[in-house]
Amino acid sequence: MSFNPGSVTFVGAGPGDPELLTLKALRAIQGADVVVHDRLISPEILALIPAAARRIDAGKEGFGPSTPQAQIDATLVAEARAGARVVRLKAGDSGVFGRLDEEIEALEAAGLAYDIVPGITSAAAAVAAIGQSFTRRGRNSGVRLVTGHDAKGFADHDWRALARPGEVAAIYMGKRAARFLAGRLLMHGAAPDTPVTAVENASRPDQRILATTLARLPAALDEAALVGPAILLFGLAPRAAEAVLPAVAEEFA
Ligand code: SAH
Repeated sequence: MSFNPGSVTFVGAGPGDPELLTLKALRAIQGADVVVHDRLISPEILALIPAAARRIDAGKEGFGPSTPQAQIDATLVAEARAGARVVRLKAGDSGVFGRLDEEIEALEAAGLAYDIVPGITSAAAAVAAIGQSFTRRGRNSGVRLVTGHDAKGFADHDWRALARPGEVAAIYMGKRAARFLAGRLLMHGAAPDTPVTAVENASRPDQRILATTLARLPAALDEAALVGPAILLFGLAPRAAEAVLPAVAEEFA
């Protein structure tokens, strides 16, 4: 891949497994002068950054310490203006809950060039991990990507629509919002035994799968004490019992 000097390439790094990087993503990383990366980028992928490239950690956490967005925008602009080939490395796909637009707008305002390399979003890795598919003939004709919280707190959604039988949603940033989500969905008529599967650290060596039901979700998450990033797959159970950890399989017994 060729770079224009002084531009930013937004690269989706995928869910963590370096084999889930695209070839385009790998080439962009290998050709970078500066890599500005998120907190969720796995160590295996960080290891692919050339030793000569500068690495800037722009870590952000929903509720924890974070780099202000304005500072990230300013860094991208300053580095590109100085002529660097900048790679902005984001977890999953940059276009899914990645605040991509804000960074693009900062570059556009500065008259700087950018391009976007798509990545495998973590929900795609999560659904693959449980042997399921997002859409299925006769079950659901669409899937929603939703966030558990947004700038204002727990995010609001069309709960009535989500609560309909057969609906499937991938919930990002949903761990802390689980009690709220489950409450809203049950209140709007979702069946208490609707399957929900949490996939923590999807595609990584420490991946964990927690299969439960909507009614049990908050308690199951508390008990499992997930520490890594997790996707909640609403409306989906693991296809095969063997895809489930023994401790979790008991829930189905
Ligand atoms: N752009 C990213 C999402 C960023 S929001 C993407 O496309 O995947 C951050 C949220 O992504 C986390 O709270 C978690 O819900 C999810 N996430 C990121 N990496 C993950 C992984 N390896 N396993 C499970 N969830 C992950």
